[in-house]
Amino acid sequence: MQLNHVTIAGAGIAGLANAITLSRCADEVLLVERAPGPRPEGYLIDFSGPGIDAARRIGVAEQLVQQRHEFTEMRSVRPDGSVSTSISLAPVLRLTPHETFTIMRPDLERGLRACLPANVRVRYNTVITHLDTHAEEPDAGVHVTLSDQTSHDSDLCIVAEGLRSATRDHYITPHQDVVRSLNYAACAWLADDPELAEILGQRFAMSEAINSYMGAARINDRHVSVFGVYPWHGQAAPAPELGVALQHLESSGSFGRRLARHAPQSGFYCDLVAQSVLPSWSNGAALAMGDTAHAVSLVTGLGSSMALCGADQLAQSVRTATSLKQAITRYEASWRPQVERVQAMGRRRAKSFVPSSRAALMARRVGMQVLRLPIVGDVVARSVVRSGDQQHRGRASQRDQRPELSR
Ligand SMILES: Cc1cc2nc3c(=O)[nH]c(=O)nc-3n(C[C@H](O)[C@H](O)[C@H](O)COP(=O)(O)OP(=O)(O)OC[C@H]3O[C@@H](n4cnc5c(N)ncnc54)[C@H](O)[C@@H]3O)c2cc1C
Repeated sequence: MQLNHVTIAGAGIAGLANAITLSRCADEVLLVERAPGPRPEGYLIDFSGPGIDAARRIGVAEQLVQQRHEFTEMRSVRPDGSVSTSISLAPVLRLTPHETFTIMRPDLERGLRACLPANVRVRYNTVITHLDTHAEEPDAGVHVTLSDQTSHDSDLCIVAEGLRSATRDHYITPHQDVVRSLNYAACAWLADDPELAEILGQRFAMSEAINSYMGAARINDRHVSVFGVYPWHGQAAPAPELGVALQHLESSGSFGRRLARHAPQSGFYCDLVAQSVLPSWSNGAALAMGDTAHAVSLVTGLGSSMALCGADQLAQSVRTATSLKQAITRYEASWRPQVERVQAMGRRRAKSFVPSSRAALMARRVGMQVLRLPIVGDVVARSVVRSGDQQHRGRASQRDQRPELSR
């Protein structure tokens, strides 16, 4: 079917991907975004298999691949800054059944923005202030009121405002708590630190500590992408203050303090590591997409891939359906089981994402050491890669004891 008008709230990965795919089966698409412009702050994300396949089908893969970062080695660093294990990533990348690449979230969004066609208009500094939906009749459309005092009718309203979506909370799942903590909090920032960028080179460094996980990778000659994860109990989000987060990351020791030395005063990310679980993704013609509907959490490394796959699937359903009701019903029926599988994997993985004891830390170290043995490494790497584990990649190259990352 062909739609007249689609409104999309949120110009993140899901909103932009939906704008591209739905523009091919709608006359006009209006994309509204709360931020005053494209968000420059962000973090490195792994973009893999299903997401790359969807990007190819959507026609944006070339734009995304151009923005990728390549890393040759992964190092596990003790709290004193000495390197405990280092593994070369090349063998694992050769074994990976699916393509994977690493990209900054703002670059992924930039790549998608470059593919927006002429019938998509983007309005920044704008949010939805009111939605009139017809719960049982998606084909009756939706009346949208915006913060710029304008209002219009749309056939479909996509709500892609991320994990903390106000429009979802008011109009799709009112009075329901749909954000489920995985008992961690995460923070991420871009450090302006040329010295650290030079030390890291093409290596990804991660902390080897109990009760905290920090990772860092060079983005360019000046900047390093840093992120931290620490245990956090309860559903309330941590205070959005980097100082507070860094206290929780204390166990990463001088390595962690080195990563934090050039943290910015603002523009960092701080929130629960969480999933969103909705009983239904839609209310009439208002449909939640991406993290708003089904955040899988950063421990899966698949959130952005899921956003692209979802956009691809919805557009296919719209194209082949005879009514919007049929399109939305088919979309949720086919996509929800796949999302639930990834969310279940995320909940399992969350239990061991951050080592909680010396034994858990040793188990992770042994896992990495095993990957360094020539034959065992190949066999284990194949099975690790097959099971989609993104924490252990390949065989080792050099062992280096220099406490270079505590300087
Ligand atoms: C530290 C970290 C590491 C991660 N690592 C990975 C990884 O390795 N691989 C991976 O695939 N995924 C990863 N993810 C997850 C991935 O970033 C998300 O799954 C993905 O960004 C979801 O896209 P989205 O468009 O649904 O939401 P978002 O990216 O959150 O975008 C939502 C957009 O909506 C806007 N918005 C919010 N409220 C409103 C409103 N009321 N009106 C209008 N606009 C609004 C926001 O400004 C934003 O632009 C990671 C996440 C974090 C935090």
